[in-house]
This record gives sequence, structure tokens and C-alpha cells, in this order.
Amino acid sequence: MGGPKVVALAGGVGGAKLAHGLAAHLGERLSVVVNTGDDCERHGLLVMPDHDTVLYNLAGIEQAGLGWGIEGDTYAAMDQLAAYGEEAWFRLGDRDLALHVARSARLRADDGGRLTEVCLGLQRALGLAPRILPMSDAPVPTQVRTAEGWLDFQEYFVHQRQTPDVLELRFAGVADASPTPEVAAAFGEASAIVLCPSNPLVSIGPILAVPGMRSLLAAAIARGARVAAVSPIIGGRALKGPADRMLAALGHESSALGVARLYADLVDVFVLDNVDADAAPAVEALGMRTLVTDTVMTDDASRARLASEVLAALR
Ligand code: GDP
Ligand code: CA
Repeated sequence: MGGPKVVALAGGVGGAKLAHGLAAHLGERLSVVVNTGDDCERHGLLVMPDHDTVLYNLAGIEQAGLGWGIEGDTYAAMDQLAAYGEEAWFRLGDRDLALHVARSARLRADDGGRLTEVCLGLQRALGLAPRILPMSDAPVPTQVRTAEGWLDFQEYFVHQRQTPDVLELRFAGVADASPTPEVAAAFGEASAIVLCPSNPLVSIGPILAVPGMRSLLAAAIARGARVAAVSPIIGGRALKGPADRMLAALGHESSALGVARLYADLVDVFVLDNVDADAAPAVEALGMRTLVTDTVMTDDASRARLASEVLAALR
């Protein structure tokens, strides 16, 4: 398939939905750079929640409505792990577990290759045309400070169900991370870049925090690539997850305008929902064009429709 190449930046649930919509139009011309800040070890295995959510969505096997896991999965292994006294709050389905087993085995093998190479091999096995690229091969675990002190991201997100107030964030080890050759090549070829409607602070934030990532974007922009961002905040609220509370707690505004302010230095076109149409003039005053449309993705058709509107706005 010829034509312009696109890089999308994504976290999990919101990012995966738009990535899937973009894939419907772009196929192999799409590269998705995913957040790896949520990655964690469970039962001795590497789990990559955002990579895997995008993988399952692009493969069309995602668990409907939940934002993680495989549709129709069973939990026999998890129940048996619990019987041995293993921690079971991070639910991994049987078919989901197979991915973590395969990935961890390949990473441990002498000839297994880098994280990105292992992920690409697994994606090919599921027949994916687009490429899902970890933001870095080095671990950059996100940590969250609450009243209890610093917590690992999944302790806050899954175990404590995002209930504590977030006082501070850090991306451990980020200074030693760098974009992979695959990520650099994708930006080098891209004529458009899309910041998906993912959490700006803990999904897009870690990707942009990798040293060298912003320079890759800047070089692409200098070559003429255009950048769009889709607001994950609609009517002041996140559709799912803690993005709204987290923005407010960390001194930002929980609104489409608040997200636009975070991206103003990068973005040409900011996409906001019809319910936020009133905010468009204020977003434009930050120096961006706006696209006001229905940004709620409820099915394959609405994912593809939003993706095509975003791509058209970048032409
Ligand atoms: P996580 O890694 O699973 O938390 O997922 P992301 O960071 O990729 O996405 C979380 C954000 O997705 C939340 O702020 C939601 O408001 C947003 N989101 C989820 N579904 C949609 C949708 O259909 N449209 C838009 N605009 N945002 C969405
Ligand atoms: Ca995530």
C-alpha cells in the first residue's frame, strides 16, 4: 500500500481505539509508538498493558468494554495461581497469559533480540499490518506518589483502582532511555503524527519524556510533517480512567482546553468533541487549528470515521 506514512502515539484504551481506526485506512503505513511506562512483571513475566491493548485491538480480539485482555478469555491459570497463594489482583486471562509467556521466553533467549524485535515478531504472528513500537527498549516504569508514598503504577492503577489522589509522577530511569532505531525510522518517514486520545500525563507524557523523542518530532515537523491531537477529555471528564482527576490534582485544567495547553508547542490541529465546541476559540488562540466533531468511539465504524476526519484535517 503506497501513500503517506503516519505515526500515532498511544497509551491503552483511548489510544488503541483511534489506532484501530487509523489502521483501517493506513494498514502497514501506520506505526504506533506505545507507552511502556505501565509495563510490569507479574509471576515472573513481562506484562505490557498498553502495547497489548493496542495489539488486541488491532487484531480485533480485544475484550469489549474493558480496555484490556482478550474477548472470551478464561481465568483457569489465574485461579490456580491464587490457589498457590500468588497475588491475583492483576487478572491475566489464559490466552492473554500466553503472550506474556512467549514474550518473556524470547527476551530471555540468547538470540531473542531487543524488546522491540520481540514485540514485532509477536505482532507478525497475529497478522498485524501496522507496527506497534515500544517507546524505548529500556524500562521506564511510571511511579505515582500518593499520601502513602511512591507506588508502582499498577499498584495505584489496578490494585488501588486509581482511588488515591496523585501528588506527583515520575518516570524512573527515563534519563537512560532513548528512542529505538525503529521509532526513529518511523518518525523519519512520517508525513503526519497523531497524538491519540490517551491520558496526557501517564500515557503520552512518558513517550514525550524519553530523551530524543521530542527532537524526532521536531525534525519531522521541520520536514513538513503535520501533527494532530485528539482530546481524551470530553465535557471536562475522562470517558474511562483517572485522567480528569489526575490533571486537576497536578495543577492542570481538566478540560479539552487544559489538554490543548499541554500540547500547544507540538500540534497543528487539535480535535475536540462537539460538546466542547465553545472551547474552540480559546484553543485557536493558543496557535492551533481546531476540528470539532464527535470524538466518542463506540464501534469500528466510529473509530474509522474519526480517524478519517483526523487524517483529512492533516492533509
Ligand atoms: P489507558 O492506558 O488504558 O489508561 O488508556 P489511554 O491513556 O490510552 O486512554 C485513556 C483516555 O482515553 C481517557 O482519558 C478516556 O477519556 C479516553 N478515551 C477512551 N475512549 C475514548 C473515546 O472513544 N474518545 C475519546 N476522545 N477519548 C476516549
Ligand atoms: Ca496505560
